[in-house]
Amino acid sequence: MKHRVGLIGWPVEHSISPAMHQAAFRATGLSDWQYELLPTPPAELPTRLKSLASTAYTGANVTIPHKQAVIPLLSTISMAARGIGAVNTIMFHDGRSEGHNTDSVGFMLDLAANGIQVYQKRALVLGAGGAAHAVVTGLANRGAHVVLMARRDQQAWQLRENVRRAISRQLQIEVQPVSALGHVAATVDLIVNCTPLGMWPEVDASPWPETVPMPADVVVYDLIYRPLMTRFMARAQAAGARVLGGIGMLVQQGAAAFELWTGQQAPVSVMYKAARQALSQATE
Ligand code: NAP
Repeated sequence: MKHRVGLIGWPVEHSISPAMHQAAFRATGLSDWQYELLPTPPAELPTRLKSLASTAYTGANVTIPHKQAVIPLLSTISMAARGIGAVNTIMFHDGRSEGHNTDSVGFMLDLAANGIQVYQKRALVLGAGGAAHAVVTGLANRGAHVVLMARRDQQAWQLRENVRRAISRQLQIEVQPVSALGHVAATVDLIVNCTPLGMWPEVDASPWPETVPMPADVVVYDLIYRPLMTRFMARAQAAGARVLGGIGMLVQQGAAAFELWTGQQAPVSVMYKAARQALSQATE
């Protein structure tokens, strides 16, 4: 029997997930597995889920703009997805749908794969949307002191409240205004961009204003993976910082989804190679 999985989003045509997952299926001998693009405008999300659950689909990934909206449409939600308030992976069985979130674990696995320790380190997180929620959850849970900064302070305070309420009031999450960027930058070990500033096709944008000096003795992690080297990363690298782009997180969150669907260990290096190849072929 054919196993079908796919990506629910709007739009989805630029996604590299099909290339990454098809490579993983090939490498693990899962020749009867197929990854499809499932373009779904918001009004069609409920119908899409019903039809996937009632047909032969084994699972799905969920991307912008459905990660939050999908929650009330699912039968059950994992603790991780509930804590983060977003679902990026679904498993279907017997007409039921189970929501998971692999973004937080994907981010933390990529830090670990690159030998970056966060326990008792200070981490500045830029942005307070869905990806920031996953990143802050992972970092704070692992004992980092998080400084959160977003153009809307209220959104940052809400994220702090949601993470602490879901996990523990002991978590160290501080909110600072964007005006404090220069001061805060000098005190942190890790800076994570969780805004879309610099993402293709707006590649000249950056979350780091020209007027604010870039620290040298930090790790800069940009969640953006298209382009592979963002303007922000290039500036940080030129200042002497160690830089990492979002491709590693993309691969690790995909690997975690692969393992949920198939029950097999994901071929992470195969997925990384396929993702990199697909990204270098894509318009940059
Ligand atoms: P989101 O929920 O829309 O959140 C984006 C955040 O950035 C919000 O706080 C938003 O503030 C802020 N922002 C947007 N435009 C801004 C601007 N011009 N100036 C200052 N702040 C701005 O998006 P998301 O899902 O968190 O995704 C954020 C980025 O992470 C995207 O580039 C996405 O591709 C990337 N991502 C990568 C991975 C990976 O695996 N590597 C996984 C998930 C996400 P407002 O609410 O005020 O607009």
